[in-house]
Amino acid sequence: MSQIRVAVFPGVFDPLTLGHLDIIRRGAALFDRLIVAVANNPAKQSLFSTEERLALVRRAAAGLRNVAVDSYKGLTVQYVARHGASVILRGLRQHSDFQYEYQLALTNRTISGIETVFVAADERVAYISSHLVREVAALGGDVSGLVPKHVRAALRKKLAGPPCRRPIEPPL
Ligand code: ADP
Repeated sequence: MSQIRVAVFPGVFDPLTLGHLDIIRRGAALFDRLIVAVANNPAKQSLFSTEERLALVRRAAAGLRNVAVDSYKGLTVQYVARHGASVILRGLRQHSDFQYEYQLALTNRTISGIETVFVAADERVAYISSHLVREVAALGGDVSGLVPKHVRAALRKKLAGPPCRRPIEPPL
């Protein structure tokens, strides 16, 4: 019997965008099982809490039968090894992502032997970033072409709350 291929797609997902969702769908088609792992890094300020980011990803992936959604703390490669996965899945947006992603992939392989597989998103969503989604939403712009409906609703609710919870970012 051939080996079951499990991949982990790690990220911050603050919040999940249509770009992330495209990579999740492609990963689900490429691997037997895909775990979307939401990073819980208390040192990094995020707009949505880990639980909120997890819930938004879970809802988006609900229809994908071989996709599980989880959160994790610490080194990604340790999480990957603990869950019997052999591959880290990452998306590539444009060449500006490449330098950092390449460095990360080589570092992860050196410290653990775990390989990283890169997938290109559909060109219609490949430019989307959580950072710009947060910025557009904070300034009252329409994010409906950038995120799933439930994420748009969550952004509206969140940004109607106290402004001190918003991360400080440079203007558009
Ligand atoms: P990071 O983990 O680098 O802080 P994210 O959590 O936003 O950033 O992204 C997780 C993964 O999703 C990364 O591999 C990133 O390149 C990928 N990704 C995010 N947005 C897109 C997109 N629009 N198209 C392709 N890949 C994307």
